[in-house]
Amino acid sequence: MKIAVIDSDKIRTCDTDDLTLNNRKGAIVKVLGCGLCGSDIVKFREKISKNGTVLGHEIVAQIVDINSDTDFKLGDKIVTSHHIPCGICNYCKHGNVSMCEHFKSTNIKPGGFSELVYLSEEHLKNVAYVVPENLTEVEASFYEPLGCCIRAVKRANLMKNSKVLVVGLGSIGILMSQALRAFGMDVAGCDLLQERINFLKNLQIEAFDSRELKEHQEFDAVFMTSGADKAIDVALKAVRNGGTILVFSSTPKNTGYPNNEIYYRELTVLGSYSPAPIDLKDSIKLLADGKVIVKNISTVYPLDKIQDAFDDTITNKIMKAYIKIND
Ligand SMILES: [Zn+2]
Ligand SMILES: [Zn+2]
Repeated sequence: MKIAVIDSDKIRTCDTDDLTLNNRKGAIVKVLGCGLCGSDIVKFREKISKNGTVLGHEIVAQIVDINSDTDFKLGDKIVTSHHIPCGICNYCKHGNVSMCEHFKSTNIKPGGFSELVYLSEEHLKNVAYVVPENLTEVEASFYEPLGCCIRAVKRANLMKNSKVLVVGLGSIGILMSQALRAFGMDVAGCDLLQERINFLKNLQIEAFDSRELKEHQEFDAVFMTSGADKAIDVALKAVRNGGTILVFSSTPKNTGYPNNEIYYRELTVLGSYSPAPIDLKDSIKLLADGKVIVKNISTVYPLDKIQDAFDDTITNKIMKAYIKIND
């Protein structure tokens, strides 16, 4: 089977032995395609992942071999997430499921940018769903990233109709804005790129150029999906006193929110990282019900052109890449 691996400054494809179930519980799936996540870009660019790593986790796949107690069967077209919380550790008990050791150690093998993937029985039981018939394969690939956004919305714990600003309108900003709207918030988004501002407007959500932001625009909450250091200033400018800043991205300089601003303005700054199984359940429903529209976000690349997908995402030439792997 063909896989795409990190090879220092490049992503290259190569051949490896086909995966088999080998009496294990779970399923072997043929990956139809896999979305390229911002976290894959960070792992590649910042050299966080070792050479030989197969990135990718936003898969849409078809079951080609299965040994499971679940209702999934041969031929099912499915989506899945990659991590599963244990449910019983201290982190899990406090709702910090994405900090759970088991959560961090579970994954799809070898990774999404592969012709075949092994899913454990745990994946099938907790985080996999049959693709709803009204969704295309590319639309279904937003299942996991939307789950991440839904968790962020829940963690912010806002009152209905709160005024929320989404800073950064890449694919995650577009998903986040719609997730917030689906949960009853009064949403606006901002970015520096006009085409992204227009994209959000076309979804009937208010959007403007970040440079037009005036001091204290009195947003109850600001969701930071931008990975730019400067966006931190935008968030501090936009949030009202007593408001919430939800951090949803790393930034290159790793600078933080000023202590005194948090104190005197009584701000709540909190992070959200990765989804819990319940958020994924909400995600598939919002997608199937058309409450979150994910048309025209992705650009499709064949596996052989995966390097271009990385390059074009890094240079903002495209909003989001989907790697098409099998028919
Ligand atoms: Zn992701
Ligand atoms: Zn746990």
